[in-house]
Amino acid sequence: MADVESSSAVQQPPSSTTNIIPLLAAAEILNENNSTTASTSNLSQQANMQANNGASNATNVTNTPSDEPPTKKQMLDHPSTSSSVCEKLESRLGGILCCAVCLDLPKTAMYQCQMGHLMCAACFTHLLADARLREQIATCPNCRVEISKSTASRNLAVEKAASELPSECQFCNKEFPYKSLDRHEQHECCERPTNCKYSRIGCQWRGPNHETTEHERNCLHPNKSGYEVIAALESHDAKIKEEKKMFNTLIDLLSYEKIIFNDLQMKPYRTDEYVHKLFYETARFSAFNHQWVVKARINNSQRDPHQSNERNITYQLILKSKTSTPMSIHFFALKGPFSDMKVGTQIYKHDFTEQSTESDYYLLPLPDSNECNRLLSNKGINFRLLMFLLNK
Ligand SMILES: [Zn+2]
Ligand SMILES: [Zn+2]
Ligand SMILES: [Zn+2]
Ligand SMILES: [Zn+2]
Repeated sequence: MADVESSSAVQQPPSSTTNIIPLLAAAEILNENNSTTASTSNLSQQANMQANNGASNATNVTNTPSDEPPTKKQMLDHPSTSSSVCEKLESRLGGILCCAVCLDLPKTAMYQCQMGHLMCAACFTHLLADARLREQIATCPNCRVEISKSTASRNLAVEKAASELPSECQFCNKEFPYKSLDRHEQHECCERPTNCKYSRIGCQWRGPNHETTEHERNCLHPNKSGYEVIAALESHDAKIKEEKKMFNTLIDLLSYEKIIFNDLQMKPYRTDEYVHKLFYETARFSAFNHQWVVKARINNSQRDPHQSNERNITYQLILKSKTSTPMSIHFFALKGPFSDMKVGTQIYKHDFTEQSTESDYYLLPLPDSNECNRLLSNKGINFRLLMFLLNK
């Protein structure tokens, strides 16, 4: 029988050899030169945030409010003609309807304590998990009244009101109701980046959706000979083969005796060096009777990440407790229940020993720099870390 267990993070300040300064808006220092940065939380106020370290997976509280009838939807999907008075009201409402812990608008469910303080589903479960780990009663960060799954309640009015607030499309910069933004960006926006339909036979063109028809009419690829397109097909096959290999590895890993997952949140910090460097770190969490943290950095701690348009996140797994026996760990990050990160699957491996307690930095496989910027503009990066231990 597989020993599949799950555990949650212990709330502790990240312990690292360098001193760290909590950084509330990591995006600020990275944003300067990049106009494409999309912020899904542009309605929330920059304010001090409550500690929200920790993790949870024991509770399942995600729930999307049901969709509105199509007629109403169509009406709302038209970009708003906002006057300055409206904008003020909208951002004021954003500040009122956001989660009191992470200050973001709710992506799924919004909960409230008995006094009416709001907490999004992710923060609510973090608070419950933290309290459970410390063997304390969970309390509302605002008023300290006890919170639990039975005393807290959903607030549907807030969920619905928040889903109507305008949010900016990252491609066309028009405003749409928060709830329909994802659909607009993925399927409807005429500025969304789109591949040529002949990309499978080698066309590299990628441009705004409204230019595809024009491009495809003039695209040279459909007229190329079999001899000319074979290279493209071969590289396509190689990619499929690679994916299949990864899939088989994953199935193989699922037969391991020891598998564990943690739902974690990375928060931004800056090093205390002469030139501050941004990095991300989770709270400590336990797995296989050991303590771990995940650390991440931007563009491999390049000196001025804001001067580059290309952006990536790499992460490492660090063993924080002593081990006398070597541990061969496979691990990878995935989206998890409270995240909207568009991450691919890439499995990494490190042999942890007494001497080697830190894995290399490995790429978090995001689709592009835009997605990376979107994550950096959030107040924390939520993800699930899967770990597999091979017993020798
Ligand atoms: Zn929250
Ligand atoms: Zn409260
Ligand atoms: Zn758009
Ligand atoms: Zn083409």
